[in-house]
Amino acid sequence: MVSLGKPSTRRLIEELKSVVGDEYVIHRDEDLLVFEYDGSVDKALPTAVVLPADTNEVVSVTKLAATYSIPITARGAGTGLSGGAIANHGGIVLALTRMTRIIQIDAENMTAIVEPGVVNIDLSTATAPYGLYYPPDPSSQKVCTLGGNVAENSGGPHCLAYGVTTNYVLGLEVVLANGSVQWFGETTREVGGYDLRGIMVGSEGTLGIVTKIAVRLVKIPEVVRTLLAVFNNVEDASLAVSDIIAAGIVPAALEMMDKLCIRAAEASVPAGYPQDAGAILLVEVDGLSEVTDEQVADIIHVCNKHSPIEIRTASDNIEREKLWAGRKGVIGALGRLAPNYYLVDGTVPRTRIMDTLKGVEKISKDYELPIGNLLHAGDGNLHPLILFDERKPGDTQKALEAGGKILELCIQAGGVLSGEHGIGMEKQEYMPLMFTDDDMTSMAKLKLAFETNDILNPGKIFPTGSSHVAIPQTGAISRTGPDAFI
Ligand SMILES: Cc1cc2nc3c(=O)[nH]c(=O)nc-3n(C[C@H](O)[C@H](O)[C@H](O)COP(=O)(O)OP(=O)(O)OC[C@H]3O[C@@H](n4cnc5c(N)ncnc54)[C@H](O)[C@@H]3O)c2cc1C
Repeated sequence: MVSLGKPSTRRLIEELKSVVGDEYVIHRDEDLLVFEYDGSVDKALPTAVVLPADTNEVVSVTKLAATYSIPITARGAGTGLSGGAIANHGGIVLALTRMTRIIQIDAENMTAIVEPGVVNIDLSTATAPYGLYYPPDPSSQKVCTLGGNVAENSGGPHCLAYGVTTNYVLGLEVVLANGSVQWFGETTREVGGYDLRGIMVGSEGTLGIVTKIAVRLVKIPEVVRTLLAVFNNVEDASLAVSDIIAAGIVPAALEMMDKLCIRAAEASVPAGYPQDAGAILLVEVDGLSEVTDEQVADIIHVCNKHSPIEIRTASDNIEREKLWAGRKGVIGALGRLAPNYYLVDGTVPRTRIMDTLKGVEKISKDYELPIGNLLHAGDGNLHPLILFDERKPGDTQKALEAGGKILELCIQAGGVLSGEHGIGMEKQEYMPLMFTDDDMTSMAKLKLAFETNDILNPGKIFPTGSSHVAIPQTGAISRTGPDAFI
């Protein structure tokens, strides 16, 4: 935790105000409270929050952070689920929510250039008149920003067939820790040399501050067909998922919800899910109408092999939106069942979904905490939602431990630590489950190639315990230079 002392803090705040204007620097304790958390469980107060208007102001703020040798943590909408936007080492939170310009829509070349504070869904709304849209659609898309999406390499229900954020980012304008501004990539798909654009995507604000994003757009499909398949239990639903993909069908979306999620969603947004179902699949195909008709018939054929209670196809757009409203609203709906949730994000091979969910059920019993399951099932991406009450002594710790056990299960099943929410603070201690010391040394060297002072979002991604990785640490990685850990 970096602490400046009162006189220096006062001077810093005056200097920040002279860059962005008085009203865009937040520094009173009661106002900072709003920025001490994101969508995860952790909390920490920054020294100040700054809301820049453009790249030049980001540069000036970054240079000030370097002068004062204090951390700078970028923040979009704060919906992140791994603690990425929390200033756990104090310092400046750089909130990019004023940078909301859609700078260019090039309909002919199907690209757009936006500022990082543009809300995900606003881009597709703006490009819809051109018959185009931006496919990565996190369930938080009505509030989360494209800058946050880039930093987390976010996915969403429709990323199964279409791919995640990295498949749509063509180029990035980035402010580096020393205040220099660089473009990585362009508006074309291929650029020569090292793929610095690719390195920046998913780097969780630890390598640079993204100030402009060039993205690829795609045509709005001619037809979209949405199916609800209802099963007695998650076993049948899981087998149907594996079989759909094994049959060579790649739906645009293939989502699963278990009993607890179905009930919570239905009580909040009546979506038409049967309350007594053990599991549901929400399957969507899109494209040309003849192709989608054939895919719908194939999916129904496969689901029928697994004793469904019911299979229903949305008859119109209103029914389709209702079905999706249940799915996209389920996380909020769980607030009806418990005051807090810890949403775990791990991925397993599709064929291991069933036994991993059985393991999750056992963990729920062992820790005496209810766990609902929401899955981007087509990707094998599990989202167990552990319900707890932070007011009960020990409950938060129990939830975190149960989450750790679930991540261990995912790795044992041949999966990975994160499907889409990033590592942040949440999973940093679990990195050694997946990565060797050599892997992490390579990552640390990459970080040091961008900055040696560990000012950009320190205390994230890398484990804090020195037993985990052979890198001497003060924050996340060495602050003392490129050779310090060799
Ligand atoms: C209800 C709910 C549903 C969700 N569903 C999904 C889902 O389906 N798929 C999915 O992938 N995620 C999902 N998320 C997680 C979250 O919405 C995404 O990770 C999203 O991309 C975060 O965007 P944000 O603007 O809120 O970023 P923040 O939470 O503010 O920040 C996230 C990270 O990005 C960094 N960052 C932000 N802006 C910049 C920038 N301009 N330059 C550099 N670094 C930056 C921050 O430092 C931090 O590390 C969900 C969250 C909630 C609460």
